[in-house]
Amino acid sequence: MSLSPIHEVPTVGGGLIQISSKEELIRQRLEEERRRLEKEAGIERRPSQHFHKPIENLFTKSQRDHTTILFGGLTWKHEKLIHGALESLGYKCEALPVPNKKAFQLGKEYGNNGQCNPTYFTVGNLVEFLQGLEEKGMSKPEIVDRYVFITAGACGPCRFGMYEAEYRLALRNSGFDGFRVLLFQQGGGLNQSEAEAGLEMNLDFFLGILNAMNMGDIINDVAYQIRPYEVNPDETDRVLEECMNLLHEAMREKQPWTLEGKLNSLLGKTGFAGTAEYLGKFLNQLYGNDYTAALLEVRNRFNAIPVDRTRVKPLVKITGEFWAQTTEGDGNFNMFKFLEREGAQVLVEPVGTWIMYMIHQAKQQIKDEQGLDLIQQGISKWNLAKVFGSQLNSQQNLAKLTAAEVIFKREYHRMVAALGDIAHHLTDQYELQRLGHPFYNSRAGGGEGHLEVAKNIYYSNKDLCHMVLSLKPFGCMPSTQSDGAQSAVVSTYKDMIFIPIETSGEGDVNAHSRVQMALGEAKVRAKNEMKRVLEEIGVTVEEIKEFVADHPEMQQPMYKYGHRKGVVGVAANFAIHAAERMKVERHAMVAV
Ligand code: SF4
Repeated sequence: MSLSPIHEVPTVGGGLIQISSKEELIRQRLEEERRRLEKEAGIERRPSQHFHKPIENLFTKSQRDHTTILFGGLTWKHEKLIHGALESLGYKCEALPVPNKKAFQLGKEYGNNGQCNPTYFTVGNLVEFLQGLEEKGMSKPEIVDRYVFITAGACGPCRFGMYEAEYRLALRNSGFDGFRVLLFQQGGGLNQSEAEAGLEMNLDFFLGILNAMNMGDIINDVAYQIRPYEVNPDETDRVLEECMNLLHEAMREKQPWTLEGKLNSLLGKTGFAGTAEYLGKFLNQLYGNDYTAALLEVRNRFNAIPVDRTRVKPLVKITGEFWAQTTEGDGNFNMFKFLEREGAQVLVEPVGTWIMYMIHQAKQQIKDEQGLDLIQQGISKWNLAKVFGSQLNSQQNLAKLTAAEVIFKREYHRMVAALGDIAHHLTDQYELQRLGHPFYNSRAGGGEGHLEVAKNIYYSNKDLCHMVLSLKPFGCMPSTQSDGAQSAVVSTYKDMIFIPIETSGEGDVNAHSRVQMALGEAKVRAKNEMKRVLEEIGVTVEEIKEFVADHPEMQQPMYKYGHRKGVVGVAANFAIHAAERMKVERHAMVAV
């Protein structure tokens, strides 16, 4: 049937309507049929009430002095340092406590059904904190007026894209309607501030947060390396607490670099003041030693904790979803404490890996989409000017991201070096992609993407752990996908001990008992490895202990002893090193 631009056709009810295209006619017929069927079935149609983002109350510069910025979601170490960074920029702030089971229940009560586990925990945690303020005597309007919450946002593709809406919904349902949620976007760049904004998300803000996160990662890593071998119980935690106070002060006292005095007024006239200030801030970041000096002091304090590296412990690498592998509470069944109590050494995952992953993925996307703009605009490949312009644009964007990659890595490793050079270096993203891609398409975004699979292979194959424990939240979409891929990984790499644990608000005993079983296997592997090494080097543990007792530097956590191919455990690697030193000293004595 051909239709003129405006055509009159009869309706099922016998009337006439004007139709301008075939599609419209089909739509019309479908709608009529739907109505008829609904009428037959007695279905009454009601307009849907979708949740709409409420109109946000503003957080303005003038409110800064009486407004506290709340934040959370990482470890207490990261948060303490972020607290210092925000204070140095002149903000009043407070970190939320580690989410507990009550937070999980509140998240379920006030949020949507069918969310992933971290959503319940983090959303409920904010509600729990606000309810706590109310119990202490503050009224709801006072709380809404004096507090704001800041969190990271993204456009998905997993439920991370829904966090902001979930916070707002739960706040409304729990009676804190109008409570302000501020967002910094994952892909939003270095300047997300609005004029007169209460929180200026500018270069100083991002540098402060990144430095705090890097330092948090490194100190966290170091503490988990020392604690299992400490000679005096609880000494690591005591020193860690002192060191965190020291670093918090260092963060708080660091003032953002600014163009001052004559230079500022001189450059102001030329219009280059903004660029010069940006450049100055970067150079100050790259060559300043405010943080590294504090880390050197922390290094010395940690180094005074006596350790016994002859203890044989299985090394357990933690992977999984970002939040589940980071939090240190009910959100992952207090898994790190449990593992340490069971005699394991925990290899925690730094936030830095995820930041590098984000940069890596952004670069990948630019490469994949190169030239697509030309096709979209119907530009011929012979239009050389346009083709060149498009190429140049892609190359410039790639160069910026490569610079970000290099700078981030450099700064991270500078801090690692300042803190005794025992924290792990950032894992190479290109290698992770190479290892993970055959099992999990590295272009599939959301959550940790191919990282979960890739880290499992990387740590097991490079003799960096005896066992990999993947913490996967209940209801996590990307983790469910990678679970399927892990079966293929495990059947390819038959020697690895890999255990995925689904974290939720309940079921601790069940989860712990499953981990215990896998850990039993890892313990046997660690013991056999030590036995094999001792036989090969022809030395006993008692002889090593005696030698170490005469060499106090070998009892220090920052002492370097190397890592041998095919040897995973600390005790086994340390034994090989000690045996080599014993041999050298024996030869020296004979020579004398
Ligand atoms: S990665 Fe999984 S747990 Fe994390 S936000 Fe996305 S869906 Fe939720």
